[in-house]
Amino acid sequence: MAERISEGLYRIPVPLPGNPLRELNSYLLTGGERAVLIDTGFRQEACRQALLAGLDELGVNRRDVDVVLTHLHSDHAGLAPEVVGDTGWIYASGPDRDYLEHADDAHWARRDERFRAEGFPAELLAQNTANPARALAPGFTDRYRTLEPGAVVEAGARRLRCIPVPGHTPGQMCFWDEAEGILFTGDHVLFDISPNITSWLEMEDALGSYLDSLRAVRDLPVRLALPGHRGRGELAPRVDALLEHHARRLEELRAILRKEPGLTAYQAAGRMRWRIRASSWEDFPLAQKWFAVGECMAHLDYLRLRGLTARDWDGAVWHYRAL
Ligand SMILES: [Zn+2]
Repeated sequence: MAERISEGLYRIPVPLPGNPLRELNSYLLTGGERAVLIDTGFRQEACRQALLAGLDELGVNRRDVDVVLTHLHSDHAGLAPEVVGDTGWIYASGPDRDYLEHADDAHWARRDERFRAEGFPAELLAQNTANPARALAPGFTDRYRTLEPGAVVEAGARRLRCIPVPGHTPGQMCFWDEAEGILFTGDHVLFDISPNITSWLEMEDALGSYLDSLRAVRDLPVRLALPGHRGRGELAPRVDALLEHHARRLEELRAILRKEPGLTAYQAAGRMRWRIRASSWEDFPLAQKWFAVGECMAHLDYLRLRGLTARDWDGAVWHYRAL
């Protein structure tokens, strides 16, 4: 069932079966000649049914819809090509559009290589092709258009300004409806789960960028923050909590490396605390393990770039130590 948030603004909940995020919040803005849909769900039947049922329920014809993406992740972008067909457009930031158009097998091979160099077992990476980030990504389309920083998306009477907030992905964006005080946060700020910050081939310092991007939105006069997943909350206190969360994580990681110098990122990730229901690091679901190691890598990059850790190459993998 779609939720009416205010005049011409609706939330369509899209289930993400088996995923700890549980649900994607797809936002529909009506009132203009064309409706605007912010984010879509995985390229998967359960998502497709819920999203299309939501559009039907709100009386929106798919031929009159353009999609605007907060970021490239498959749970947001997966269904975008099907929604717009050959009549609409998919708007994305330059970096995330570039990724969506070029994340081919060679890209994934380079990413696997980086994870292998961080100690991730090759046999597990070989099984990771079923990872939803990969398996449920959008199919090919030539319907992308680029949203530059500061660009304005018009949806009926609403004007949404694009604010680049790199970190969660290289081109993550928030959309800011200044007149109404509404911020669509995508996965930049979530309220009851901390957004995954992973290492990217396209970003040298993903965590550093993310923390800067948190500070960039903290003091906007936001009345209503609408996240990409789960529930809503107050923006500034949540930003402060996320800044603190990562400061704690960085300290946790330094303490782990002080105690056991020479760990790989894969081993260090296994010693960090995670809010995942698994009895041991070995039992982590593979996709979650991949995100956890990526998160650990982003934190290690942050510490290393600031002279707080160093790493040594043994010819096959990197080993980290605190400085
Ligand atoms: Zn995401």
